Amino acid sequence: MSLALNIDHDMAPRPKPQGPLDLVGLSKKDIAARLGEIGLSERDSRMRASQLWNWIYVNGATDFGQMTNIAKGLRADLAEAFTIGRPEIVSEQVSNDGTRKWLFRFRDPAHPHMPPVEVETVYIPESDRGTLCVSSQVGCTLTCSFCHTGTQKLVRNLTAGEILAQVMMARERLGDFPGGVRPTDGLVPHGESRAITNIVMMGMGEPLYNYENVKKALLIASDGEGLSLSKRRITLSTSGVVPFIEPTGSEIGVMLAISLHAVRNDLRDVLVPINKKWPLEELLEACRTYPGVSNAKRITFEYVMLKDINDSDADARELVRLLANIPAKINLIPFNPWPGSNYVCSDWDRIEAFADIVNRAGYASPVRTPRGRDIFAACGQLKSETERLKKKDRDAFML
Ligand code: SAH
Ligand code: SF4
Repeated sequence: MSLALNIDHDMAPRPKPQGPLDLVGLSKKDIAARLGEIGLSERDSRMRASQLWNWIYVNGATDFGQMTNIAKGLRADLAEAFTIGRPEIVSEQVSNDGTRKWLFRFRDPAHPHMPPVEVETVYIPESDRGTLCVSSQVGCTLTCSFCHTGTQKLVRNLTAGEILAQVMMARERLGDFPGGVRPTDGLVPHGESRAITNIVMMGMGEPLYNYENVKKALLIASDGEGLSLSKRRITLSTSGVVPFIEPTGSEIGVMLAISLHAVRNDLRDVLVPINKKWPLEELLEACRTYPGVSNAKRITFEYVMLKDINDSDADARELVRLLANIPAKINLIPFNPWPGSNYVCSDWDRIEAFADIVNRAGYASPVRTPRGRDIFAACGQLKSETERLKKKDRDAFML
């Protein structure tokens, strides 16, 4: 699916690769094609691609030297042509509730003259699951008025490899690969063999403004011969990029979450300005026809609770009315403040009264407990220092 969206991404064409190519983020077919380029026959390329896939995604290998079922000479050739990337960890913080946040720095080995970028990834352990909240962009071009990420100008889209590398590095740090060691600080879920059982594309950025890379990364994350995360345990959250909602269902097949936050166009235009381009009617129609949607595979509607803005009984009733013929779950999110934010979180009894109306209409409407606020890891608090380079500086880096 490629649609010409009029997005003001500052996406300079990337220069031709100069260094070894990172295998993380390439499809198995792409890996085989690259092996063909370094002289392997078609049959060998396919076989070696499967072996590499297993080493990279099942075993978490980062060094070709570990790959004992590949002859030494070939391992040396592979090490010359390719890398298996992991981001640099700038910081790793653990909240007093066990939430863990990493600041990752990515340098693209194939483009060593490009400046590095930094993104945040958050791990939220609960008793029965562990959720990794993954970023899709550095910053965000959209400017939802209650979101900290929206105040950071987009630097660039993350590549499929960089999206996946967040999952790979988190698994490594949490001891999720064979032979790995669980951290002793922070929590991991009980009775689960994996620390990371779920992925949500709810970190920095709008995933549907980076559709192709997100698609590639999620198809690799859910590949049964690799990381093997079930598509039902992967949720993509969008602010409402309507033309990419259908393809998300038909081409990726993951669970969908919609950042709704308002039930009237005039208010949603202010809170989630992309609403001016794709208003509520179009957004809800795309949800109604989302491929695979059913009572067993409901769409999650996220609703941030903003005091005196969107939290009245009338708003709750309208919410129920709007979602009437869509298999839906409603997730009420207490607003998480950030330095300079102009909103206040609704009072607790208001949130309860709102949740009551929604519950009585037959929706389970869990109020999302804010996690990791003390380390600025909660929804909408993520932001990295990476700023968009001026064109002049960017050009200088390209030389
Ligand atoms: N860009 C995507 C995904 C990332 S945001 C999207 O907007 O859906 C993940 C969720 O956190 C979204 O529902 C977003 O609206 C919400 N959010 C943003 N800022 C918040 C804040 N300050 N407090 C609570 N939730 C917030
Ligand atoms: Fe971007 Fe989502 Fe934040 Fe809106 S809520 S600014 S789309 S990250």
